[in-house]
Amino acid sequence: MHELTPLTGPVSPVEALRRIATLMERQRAGSYRIEAFRSAMARLAGLDEDEVASRASAGTLTDLEGIGASTATIVQQALAGDLPDRLQKLQDETAEPLAEGGAELFAAVVGDCHSHSTWSDGGSPIEEMVLTAAELGQDWLVLTDHSPRLRVANGLSAERLAKQIGVVRAIDGSLGDTFHLLTGIEVDILDDGSLDQTEAMLGRLDLVTASVHSKLKMEPRAMTRRMVAAVNDPATDVLGHCTGRLVTGGRGTRPESRFDARAVFEACRDNEVAVEINSRPERCDPPDELIEMALEIGCLFAIDSDAHAPGQLEMKRYGCERAERHGIDPDRIVTTWDRERLLAWSRRRRPVTD
Ligand SMILES: [Zn+2]
Ligand SMILES: [Zn+2]
Repeated sequence: MHELTPLTGPVSPVEALRRIATLMERQRAGSYRIEAFRSAMARLAGLDEDEVASRASAGTLTDLEGIGASTATIVQQALAGDLPDRLQKLQDETAEPLAEGGAELFAAVVGDCHSHSTWSDGGSPIEEMVLTAAELGQDWLVLTDHSPRLRVANGLSAERLAKQIGVVRAIDGSLGDTFHLLTGIEVDILDDGSLDQTEAMLGRLDLVTASVHSKLKMEPRAMTRRMVAAVNDPATDVLGHCTGRLVTGGRGTRPESRFDARAVFEACRDNEVAVEINSRPERCDPPDELIEMALEIGCLFAIDSDAHAPGQLEMKRYGCERAERHGIDPDRIVTTWDRERLLAWSRRRRPVTD
């Protein structure tokens, strides 16, 4: 994958707004401001082009609900054939890569095993995630919305997941052969180590990322049993953000869960479960010493974005910087594998029935 190629004029109003929102997400701007641009974009995309043009020249765009003065200016500049000032400014601000290191590995990464959409707690529709992933030069993306127990994140019941699988297959079918959207889940690891979705549903998915989201302060021996059981489950392909720590950001900080990391990583190695390097700056999980341990034990890795918005997909650059610093062989990172190799691996322990 690569950085987004800067846009040059002329651009359509929708393209301009999409890119502005994406670059703001990459900058980790406040979600309220980004949401305003994304909803204005959706509003404009639903309008007839002639109506947008006549409203732009009459100065009545702001009469439309959800279109504010700054959006109207962007639309007017785009329709005049210019690159909107706001977009130019953002492109100038984001010209540098997100991290200094990791360039070579970033170029080798072609996929992502962890992403969210508006079906759970993500901010954008599936189609928008796909569009940006493709613009970033990715070849595949696994959609991994949350499981039912995570009610705060609007986790998907078996029924909603079944419906989502149909939607994902339809989107994937419309994409041609240059990009693939894969079915998946970020399934909660329950207190006893079982997974928060039926075996039948998990068996229908292309890939399963399993993560702990509750009782992060569990006593270490119980937490170890819980995580080892989840890794031993034949449905699990990737162990998500294993320590649960938060190191920075709006949600505050949170210490690492305590568990016998050696026992958990040995189970990952024995079951060929990839240890996720979660690229979100507030997670930066696992910590360096655990990456070293997993590397020494012989685990596979997945460099994931855990993106909740399209502009966050590029954050895999942070994970690449860390992985490169630890000297991880790119061939041990499943997100550098092509789709065929990925699917051959994820089907190693269970027949896919869908
Ligand atoms: Zn998670
Ligand atoms: Zn997630």
